[in-house]
Amino acid sequence: MTTVRFAPSPTGLLHVGNARTALLNFLFVKKNAGRFLLRIDDTDAGRSKPEYEEAIKEDLAWLGIAHDLFARQSERADAHRAAAERLKASGRLYPCYESQLELDRRRQRQIAAGKPPVYDRAALALTADDRAKEEAQGRVPHWRFKLSQSKVKWRDLIRGDVEIDTAHLSDPVLIREDGRFLYTLPSVADDIDFAVTHIIRGEDHVTNTAAQIELFEALGATPPAFAHHPLLIGAGGEALSKRLGSLSLRLLRQDGIEPMAAVSYLAKTGTSDATAPQPSLDALAEEFALEKIGRAPAHFDPAELSNLNAKLLHGLPYEAVTARLAALGITGAGFWDAVKPNLARFADVRELWLLVVGPVTPVIEDAGFAATAAAHLPPEPWDDATWGGFTKAVAGATGRKGRELYHPLRLALTGREHGPELKKLLPLIGRTRALARLKGESA
Ligand code: GLU
Repeated sequence: MTTVRFAPSPTGLLHVGNARTALLNFLFVKKNAGRFLLRIDDTDAGRSKPEYEEAIKEDLAWLGIAHDLFARQSERADAHRAAAERLKASGRLYPCYESQLELDRRRQRQIAAGKPPVYDRAALALTADDRAKEEAQGRVPHWRFKLSQSKVKWRDLIRGDVEIDTAHLSDPVLIREDGRFLYTLPSVADDIDFAVTHIIRGEDHVTNTAAQIELFEALGATPPAFAHHPLLIGAGGEALSKRLGSLSLRLLRQDGIEPMAAVSYLAKTGTSDATAPQPSLDALAEEFALEKIGRAPAHFDPAELSNLNAKLLHGLPYEAVTARLAALGITGAGFWDAVKPNLARFADVRELWLLVVGPVTPVIEDAGFAATAAAHLPPEPWDDATWGGFTKAVAGATGRKGRELYHPLRLALTGREHGPELKKLLPLIGRTRALARLKGESA
């Protein structure tokens, strides 16, 4: 069964970059009727926080990304230790005693000599006696995975054929001196135990993949398929990594971005549809294909997302927002139709609702004109045609037209320079309030 995993580290809020990774996994698995594993990579006990895990879950739910399976790496230490023991037994995991200082010094020497700063495997040459001596001096080893030093190849479902020679890589440290696992081994052990079939993640992991493929094999497992997507970059081509704090889903939500706007943008950025609101996750999943992602970096431009958000709101039918409006004490399809073209974010409805129910402090620049207008307000009932008849009558009585006619009416009736179409708003304001406002009374 197709199984993917999204594996965030709970060391911060979910940002647009990893939200996109989650989304691509979700769309892929929805399309292929598989399972989505949410795996919390919390092996770094110092930086992982339960509140971040909660926030990540909440933000995924907000996007509509549900998981079928859940795991926390910190609860799987036994499985990780068992995997490590197997690697030790087969000679692929070896103890090293170099201090960080020593390693740094060696690296600097290599760089000075024009050599790549790859771990020299000195620890592999240690005899049992050497090790015993190190330990007698109170030294505790860290453990490295012995790479095969050969060419690792895979057909990446986004990048095509990839080949990485692990002879150019340092044997990765899997276990620290203090016994804690680094990300690599727990990740592979869990991918094996949960029968993950596809690893879809950012292209910053391409090099890790070579070592991980070797780890899968060393643990007797067939490596899953891999797909590495391009990372998001800023509107000006800059890396987003430095601004990620300001690009959390939490902040987008606070800024009034609709979840489906975020989903639409993150699913389509990098394509010509990037600015179009998409109807649903189901529709996106239906047409999803990893091959369509392409290798060009995808942009994340907050201004583009805001525009998309506005477009999405402008297209929402009343039925889609009835409950949300009701929660704010607002009812009426007529109101929604009148104001939705003016919304940048949903919360703007509150202010616009006040234009209807008041109180509005009218702005009267010419009391005589306003009084004439007031005298021409027709009797109710009012509808969409009322505004046209009313303004025609005022034009006839005052000789005004264009902005000279409409602008003072808007200022008097709404107290604002701009706003929703008065043709739609006037019947909602109603005669009593309209009359009062034209007389300069707050209503
Ligand atoms: N916890 C890792 C990260 O956030 C997971 C990477 C992966 O998908 O393997 O980068």
